[in-house]
Amino acid sequence: MTSDLQAPAAPAALGPTGRPLVDFPVPPPLDQHGPARVIAMCNQKGGVGKTTTTINLGAALAEYGRRVLLVDFDPQGALSVGLGVNPHELDATVYTLLMDRRTPVHEVVRPTRLPGVDILPANIDLSAAEVQLVSEVAREQALVRSLRPVLDDYDVVLVDCQPSLGLLTVNALTAAHGVMIPLECEFFALRGVALLVETIEKIQDRLNPALRIDGILATMYDPRTLHSREVVARVVEAFGDRVFDTLIARTVKFPDASVAAEPITTYAPDHAGAESYRRLARELVARGGAA
Ligand code: ADP
Ligand code: MG
Repeated sequence: MTSDLQAPAAPAALGPTGRPLVDFPVPPPLDQHGPARVIAMCNQKGGVGKTTTTINLGAALAEYGRRVLLVDFDPQGALSVGLGVNPHELDATVYTLLMDRRTPVHEVVRPTRLPGVDILPANIDLSAAEVQLVSEVAREQALVRSLRPVLDDYDVVLVDCQPSLGLLTVNALTAAHGVMIPLECEFFALRGVALLVETIEKIQDRLNPALRIDGILATMYDPRTLHSREVVARVVEAFGDRVFDTLIARTVKFPDASVAAEPITTYAPDHAGAESYRRLARELVARGGAA
């Protein structure tokens, strides 16, 4: 027997989140689609990677054969622009859907250049919805009502929220099964997260008891700086297993890809940034956050 001669296994190497470095399995193909799980990409701070994550996670899930609908829920329209849709030329947007119940959602959803990825675009019109919805009955449920007819057509719906905790974001959280919170790896990253978590808890209490936090995603991570590693350690200290093991590193390829109006997964398919969003997609499925 050779087994008693074997050295004890070396301790597994730990990744930046302090967990053993493991990969997540490639999700098996789906033989049928829907109903979709809805995930709100949420942080009231701007510039933390919500839109970038919506585009690239969506593209990565579609590479794994998932049918994906991306909802632009920010009047800035960055998600729409980032996927090559000119939001100023649109007659019907997510705003039309929210405000006019007779508009069929199928007429507003558009295909993107990415197979398996559709988009509900937005433009600056959406900024009026915040005010106009206030006087509506069931003002928090406008998005969930609009999305209902298409949920069976998709496996995942990702809602790219605007940087605020106003009524649009409340609508997204009311429509969602889960929330993902991107956090930029910088010193004040945790500021404001307590308020976001409080908002999520209020929505759970009053509007959407099934809502859960799918995970916190550390973005713009720079492995060379102690600072970045410290921020990740503090985020893990505060949120434990709710922090995704996958981190998104800071790289200029992301802004480059947005200028090209493409996800990094097609703009630079072999780049580490593309691979990290594929890993995030695998981790999300492994955690039960997507089919
Ligand atoms: P948000 O939607 O939260 O406002 P964005 O996704 O639009 O944030 O990102 C803000 C800016 O940072 C964009 O210019 C984007 O290209 C860039 N960016 C996003 N993620 C990264 C990253 N991992 N590394 C470098 N730049 C990034
Ligand atoms: Mg954005």
